[in-house]
Amino acid sequence: MLDKVVIANRGEIALRILRACKELGIKTVAVHSKADKDLKHVLLADETVCIGNAPALESYLNIPALIAAAEISDAIAIHPGYGFLAESADFAEQVAKSGYIFIGPSADVIRLMGDKVSAIEAMKRAGVPTVPGSDGELNEDSERNIRLARRIGYPVIIKASGGGGGRGMRVVRNEGELIDSIELTKAEAGAAFNNPAVYMEKYLENPRHVEIQVMADSHGNAIHLGERDCSMQRRHQKVVEEAPAPGITEEMRKFIGERCARACVEIGYCGAGTFEFLYENGEFYFIEMNTRIQVEHPVTEMVTGVDLIKEQLRVAAGQPLSLTQDDVVIRGHAIECRINAEDAQTFIPSPGEITRFHPPGGMGIRWDSHIYAGYRVPPYYDSMIGKLITYGENRGIAIARMQNALRELVVDGIKTNTALQMRIMDDENFQNGGSNIHYLEKKLEQEG
Ligand code: ADP
Repeated sequence: MLDKVVIANRGEIALRILRACKELGIKTVAVHSKADKDLKHVLLADETVCIGNAPALESYLNIPALIAAAEISDAIAIHPGYGFLAESADFAEQVAKSGYIFIGPSADVIRLMGDKVSAIEAMKRAGVPTVPGSDGELNEDSERNIRLARRIGYPVIIKASGGGGGRGMRVVRNEGELIDSIELTKAEAGAAFNNPAVYMEKYLENPRHVEIQVMADSHGNAIHLGERDCSMQRRHQKVVEEAPAPGITEEMRKFIGERCARACVEIGYCGAGTFEFLYENGEFYFIEMNTRIQVEHPVTEMVTGVDLIKEQLRVAAGQPLSLTQDDVVIRGHAIECRINAEDAQTFIPSPGEITRFHPPGGMGIRWDSHIYAGYRVPPYYDSMIGKLITYGENRGIAIARMQNALRELVVDGIKTNTALQMRIMDDENFQNGGSNIHYLEKKLEQEG
C-alpha cells in the first residue's frame, strides 16, 4: 500500500480522502493555503504544509508548491481530489516526472479525454453511443458545415473542443445563424481555451443528465458501478444527485455500463472516472468523461457499498481492483443534496463564521462535511460546505429521510441553500422522478 499521501485539495473532499487514508493505514500530508489552516482535515492530518496565499492560483493551483510539499514530507503519492488540478494533464505529468504517483489516470489519458473531439472519437471506437454530430472538428468550408447541420437536423449546438465548465457552447436554431455562430464560438474558444477547434452536435431539447461511474486498475481490469442522475441543475451546476437513476432498467444499466468499462480498457484508463451522458427518449448520448473522483460519488458508494476513494488508493498503489463486475450489486436508493454557503433565493455567496452547528443523524443519513461551530467559511473558494446524503431501501424512503435531515440541519451565522433543497424535496415532479436538466431553472423562474 501507499506509505504517505499528499492531499492536494481542501474542504470536504480533503477530509473524505483523509478518512480513507486513515482506514488503510496511509499517512497523510495536508497542504493548505494561508486562509485554510483551520480546516478540519488540516487539524487531523499527520503532517501539514502551508503552500501559499489564499487565492487558489497562489496555493491549490501552484504545481511547484504542491510537488515541493511531497518532497519535504517524503510522501510517495498525490491525491488531487476534484476541481483545482484534478483534470490537469500538466499536473499529472509533472507529478509523475518528479517521481511521485498521481492518484488518477496517466497524463496522456487525461489529455485525450480533456479534448472533446478526441474523447468522442475514442468513445465511438469503443462502441459508446455519442450525440449525432460532425465527426470531428469543423473546418472553414461553409458549404460543408451547412450540409452537416442539415443532415444532423436543427437545432444544433456548436461546442469548443477544449471547453469546460459549461462555457464555449452555442445553440443554433436555424441555417441563417449557423456560419456566424461557428465563427463566434471559434473566436471565443481561441481566447478562452487557447484552442479554436469547435465541433457540431445535435442539440437535445429536454435530456436528463445520467452518468456512469467506472473504476479501473493497471492490470487491464475495469468495472462500472451503475449510474447517477444529476438532472437537478442550475447554471450547469449540479444541485441534487441520486443513484440509481429513476426509470433506468437493469438491462439498460448493463448495456451502457459494459460499454463504458470496455472503453476504459481500450484507452488504458486507471482509477475512478465518470462517463457523462445526456439521456433522452430511452437513449444515451456521451458528452464527456471526467477523469477524477466526483462530488456526487457518495450516492454510488451508498447503493453499492464500495468505498471509491479507498479503491482509488489501491489501484494507484498498483493493486488490482478489489472486486469484479459480478460483485457489484445496486441495492436501495441514495440522494445527495449539496449544501452551499449562499442565499437560498439569490444564490449570492455567504462566507463568514459558523456560530452554531448541528448535523443531522439517524438511520441512512451521511454528512460529508468539514464544517464545525466556530469555523469561518473563507470567501476565496467554492461555496459548497457539505453534502447531505440519505439512503433508503427505496427512493421514497431516501426522500423522506432527506426531508427530516434537512429540517434537522442547523448552520447559523451564514446563509445556506437548505431552504432550496427542501423545496426540491417537496416538489411533486422531483418526487415522481425523471425530471430533465431544465426543470429546476424553469421552476425557479416560475415560482421566483
Ligand atoms: P462542459 O465540459 O463545459 O461541462 P459538456 O459537454 O459536459 O460541457 O456540456 C455541458 C452542458 O451543456 C450539458 O450538461 C448540457 O446541459 C449542455 N449540452 C451539451 N451538449 C448538449 C447537446 N448536444 N444537447 C443539449 N444540451 C447539451
